[in-house]
Amino acid sequence: MAKKEKKKGLPASLPNRQGRKAGLNRRDFIDKGFRFSIAVGLIGIVGSLFKKSQAKEYVWQLDPSKCTHCGRCATSCVLTPSAVKCFHVYDMCGYCDLCGGYFRPSSKNLTTAAENQLCPTSAIERKFIEEPFFEYHIIEDLCIGCAKCVKGCGAFGNGSLQLQVNHRLCVNCNECAIARDCPADAYQRVSIDDPYLFAGFEQKKEG
Ligand code: SF4
Ligand code: SF4
Ligand code: SF4
Repeated sequence: MAKKEKKKGLPASLPNRQGRKAGLNRRDFIDKGFRFSIAVGLIGIVGSLFKKSQAKEYVWQLDPSKCTHCGRCATSCVLTPSAVKCFHVYDMCGYCDLCGGYFRPSSKNLTTAAENQLCPTSAIERKFIEEPFFEYHIIEDLCIGCAKCVKGCGAFGNGSLQLQVNHRLCVNCNECAIARDCPADAYQRVSIDDPYLFAGFEQKKEG
């Protein structure tokens, strides 16, 4: 489904605007956007990747554009909880009040009450920015990679919530157990130098 992005009235101060002006590519997102997406862990990602790069040149990653949100990313990983987490691509987000990734479709009130939340572990923080915009932040430690929010955001929003194998956590199995079980054939080996795949995010070749 084509995703429409809310363009009207976005405050210039919001990070997605800043990112768009700067022409962020996927690598830029990794360098810059993760500061929003995962408050801690950037150093860990770099350190972990450096260690792995000494052993292997390729790692497992899933293509969000192929994912059908079956839930096996949460249950098939050899790790518990799964190494697959939801990442928020802020540059694509509409900062919606009625977020399809945060609220259950049956929610009567747009409050943060647990019964209104789609996420089974309350791993998404909702923060008021300015009328009528809200920012959504993934608490990595609570996320189990179930894809419920990803499905909701894809159905009703811009698709800015996306699953990815978190390479700070993944042990890079020779045969990824999720790849074996994935019904959408969404997993592939990617270079350790460019280990994240974000759908709807322009990738520019680096010189
Ligand atoms: S196993 Fe495949 S289809 Fe299922 S949630 Fe993971 S990537 Fe998506
Ligand atoms: S709904 Fe699932 S994938 Fe999304 S943040 Fe919660 S635990 Fe993670
Ligand atoms: S390679 Fe192993 S640790 Fe990494 S996501 Fe797949 S099953 Fe989980």
